[in-house]
Amino acid sequence: MGAGKASLKSAEDLVAAGLVPLEQRDALAAVAKRYAIALTPAVVGLIDRNDPADPMARQFVPQLAELVTTPDERADPIGDLARSPVEGIVHRYPDRVLLKAVHVCPVYCRFCFRREMVGPQGLGTLTPEAMDAAITYIADHPEIWEVILTGGDPLVLSARRLREMMVRLKGIDHVKIVRFHTRVPVVEPERVDAALIDALKASGKTTYLAVHANHPREFSETARAAIARLADSGVVLISQSVLLKGVNDDVPTLAALMRGFVENRIKPYYLHHPDLAPGTSHFRVSIEDGQKLVAALRGTISGLCQPTYILDIPGGHGKADIGASSISRGDGCFTVRDFRGGEHQYPPR
Ligand code: SF4
Repeated sequence: MGAGKASLKSAEDLVAAGLVPLEQRDALAAVAKRYAIALTPAVVGLIDRNDPADPMARQFVPQLAELVTTPDERADPIGDLARSPVEGIVHRYPDRVLLKAVHVCPVYCRFCFRREMVGPQGLGTLTPEAMDAAITYIADHPEIWEVILTGGDPLVLSARRLREMMVRLKGIDHVKIVRFHTRVPVVEPERVDAALIDALKASGKTTYLAVHANHPREFSETARAAIARLADSGVVLISQSVLLKGVNDDVPTLAALMRGFVENRIKPYYLHHPDLAPGTSHFRVSIEDGQKLVAALRGTISGLCQPTYILDIPGGHGKADIGASSISRGDGCFTVRDFRGGEHQYPPR
């Protein structure tokens, strides 16, 4: 069966599309009550129905394992709420804020770190009054150099709404960088048209766009064309991915993913260790295995393709680089490890 025209949004839809067996319908309806479901036609078209372990299905088709919440998991795994001075703003680091204008996405990733906040049952879209207060907060804090639009997926907003937001940010001199975090170029590439691209830009601001993709198959022909339209327009593209068991936790897949980014003019930026989001333990990889994978990438692919392996510290304490260090202090000198594991001495200065 090929991609239909509408997104699949319920257990019923998934059964009708032949993506889950009828026997699972009621149990998956229980999952859907807590965590939203959405698969765009583009995503449905990427699923290999003959592969029971298909990495695309694993990212978007709900599983019964989501009903299991482990003691370490938490509803707000990266502590957004603890760092939110006004609705829609997360101010974790002095020079930048998150602006969460919308809590809706075109797809709902089964591992999402904000799964308790996004979706129809989530925090919704900022009201005009809340948006006014968020913009006032940014204007009142001259230390804010960068505004990061995330959510939810900000590219679900219409070009008109995006342009309005950019016009308001344009009026704030101290904001120099506006960054969008989005999955739209790969999961709904047809949305990336000239009007939307134009709306992302404002004179005096530099626009960055972080493209979220986790598997090289996400670079479909239509996704590549959408990314090319963005790159041609002068928007600077960086990547973000999540290290996910059964999706990309092996060197060939990660290498192909990172090369895919670079080939599409997207600079690899962050590879996130999966967060302790509820009902996601089936996606979790150990930190030790993650470090081994990232170290292996060093010896496998170009320096251009290297992401930083990042952990968001629970409680809102920000990000930490958790790639294994290749340097350690020895007796009077440093020991440096090369990509083959060989150790070399280096003087302290
Ligand atoms: S697109 Fe991002 S915010 Fe939306 S469900 Fe996926 S990971 Fe979560």
